[in-house]
Amino acid sequence: METTPPGSDASAAPADLAQALTALKGRSAIVTGSTSGIGLGIARALAASGAAVTLNGFGDPAAIEETRRQLAEAHGVAVHHSGADMSKPDEIASMVATHAERLGPADILVNNAGIQHVSPIESFPATKWDAILAINLSAAFHTIQAAYPAMKARGWGRIINIASAHGLVASPFKSAYVAAKHGVIGLTKVVALEAAECGVTCNAICPGYVWTPLVAAQIDDQAAAHGLPRDRVVRDVILAPQPTRRFATVDEIAALAVFLCTDLAASITGTALPADGGWTAR
Ligand code: NAD
Repeated sequence: METTPPGSDASAAPADLAQALTALKGRSAIVTGSTSGIGLGIARALAASGAAVTLNGFGDPAAIEETRRQLAEAHGVAVHHSGADMSKPDEIASMVATHAERLGPADILVNNAGIQHVSPIESFPATKWDAILAINLSAAFHTIQAAYPAMKARGWGRIINIASAHGLVASPFKSAYVAAKHGVIGLTKVVALEAAECGVTCNAICPGYVWTPLVAAQIDDQAAAHGLPRDRVVRDVILAPQPTRRFATVDEIAALAVFLCTDLAASITGTALPADGGWTAR
């Protein structure tokens, strides 16, 4: 008698839950924008779970090399760095190709690189609009286009797009960022549907505020845009929509990303998962 429900594969069921949660050994991951903040936290967590990693992003070369070396040594995995600019499609293509040459085709792709600019729409610089759309949205299209075919061919892949609560709801003065993040969630759904029968999942994580350099850098602009003193911005603007009134942590976001990369997350696809302290529950 047939005991396996149609569409399931009993042989793939994890014998050991704990093992399944650290089962990224032998996988390789590209994490864009991983020289800082959330991306670095995700790269660290993936390496700790056994994945080889291509770091990406800007910063002081010596500091990046030190991070790369520490990650590789601490977790016994290969770690490389690509300085590819996510606003440049040709650099994205060569980052994905170089990853494949060094570490094999990417099993995991985390689109995390992002920038922000805070300004009323009347004075929002068009150059900032173009840069935010390029780095926060179009880069994900280009990385997926480059990395997905090999995932599909091998029947396994995980694509995670770091969107934002601002992919689900808006705030004033963030026209480009909110537009790009809503777009990322749309892209996530389309890729999930196209990949659904290929063993490849695509999901968006939607953090609320996480204390990183990206948030620290907004305090002055938010103060100017809202006409508030700097010290009131964190309490009255930044954390006002986040019911927990605390910043989410990089580790909380990284743990969710790692879970999405396990085999136990095979049925989670096409989602926009908030990690926002209840912000979008309102
Ligand atoms: P961060 O400023 O700490 O890190 C951004 C990373 O992106 C850095 O490594 C930087 O070098 C890299 N980067 C920037 N421009 C790049 C480019 N053109 N090419 C390649 N790399 C580039 O920011 P973060 O707060 O860690 O944000 C990471 C992601 O999380 C972003 O997509 C952001 O929108 C999203 N996010 C952040 C928060 C938050 O509160 N911090 C909330 C929701 C979503």
